[in-house]
Amino acid sequence: RARGLTKTFRVPRSASGSTRLHALDGVDLTVRRGETLGLVGESGCGKSTLARVLLMLERPDAGSVRYAGVDPFALRGRQLLGWRRRVQMVFQDPFASLNPRMSAAELIAEPWRSHPGLVPRPERERRVRELLEMVGLRAADARRHPQEFSGGQRQRIGIARALALEPEVIVCDEPVSALDLSVQAQVLNVLTGLQAELGVAYVFISHDLPVVRHMADRVAVMYLGRVVESGPAEAVFTAPRHPYTAALLSAAPRPPAAHGGAAAAGPDAPGERIVLRGEVPSPTDPPSGCRFRTRCWKAEERCAEVLPSDEPAPDGPEHVAACHLPLAHSGGTSAP
Ligand code: SF4
Ligand code: MG
Repeated sequence: RARGLTKTFRVPRSASGSTRLHALDGVDLTVRRGETLGLVGESGCGKSTLARVLLMLERPDAGSVRYAGVDPFALRGRQLLGWRRRVQMVFQDPFASLNPRMSAAELIAEPWRSHPGLVPRPERERRVRELLEMVGLRAADARRHPQEFSGGQRQRIGIARALALEPEVIVCDEPVSALDLSVQAQVLNVLTGLQAELGVAYVFISHDLPVVRHMADRVAVMYLGRVVESGPAEAVFTAPRHPYTAALLSAAPRPPAAHGGAAAAGPDAPGERIVLRGEVPSPTDPPSGCRFRTRCWKAEERCAEVLPSDEPAPDGPEHVAACHLPLAHSGGTSAP
């Protein structure tokens, strides 16, 4: 459970000095045991920094992280190492993240070097075979090197390597976007199967919204260092409350409509493509009030003055959006 996470970086502005980049600007986030939390947003929204904080590679400037009630940033030495083991990472590009000089077996066993007590030496060979099989590779693949595998197979090795430390959470950063479309589904199925088997939670970072919809139990949408909307995936995808979420969804490829009617006009109408004006503002100079207001078609004066707080949606208290004028959706029960 993360609350109010803030992280700024000093970046050079000109020869004369530097400025501060607001990578995380008050992020609230909860990941539950055994679930998949989809994390979406355009590049530069803070997803990668958030992932690095969750992995404890980056210490937030402010805010809190509690992992099963424990503040990992307060831990030292062995305790810290033990905590780190619980959160692992699967990277976008399995080729860049795997040392080409190591065999699959060595790659999978490598994380045990820093956690020597986890798997006793005599059991390691058997455990490597087991991990290979868990991700759909063969025991005989243990001796092969990354360049001898296909992209999908390499990503399976990346997953086996993450699993070697028996994590409770795996942060998957665009885990299939470097793979051929035909291979993506296979790797996603591996992830889904492992979750059912092991109860591991995923923080699934992707800008492929159909993939997120397929994978996620809950979704958090980020914009300029903040989570602007979160909730059950179905609720967020079918009835987005935040204008930014609606814009993201309208730009995403969709399955063909069940009954082919033309989309109604007006940015509040579901199904219409929303074209946002302008660019994402620089995180070195985020707008006051609502960070999205410079691009929002609904913005009014108070949006510049007051930072909107999370408001629950009518479809359930779990679905929240940080907007003064959340979008309405006809649910069929609205009053006349
Ligand atoms: Fe748009 Fe205002 Fe809502 Fe921000 S708070 S998303 S500017 S309507
Ligand atoms: Mg990124």
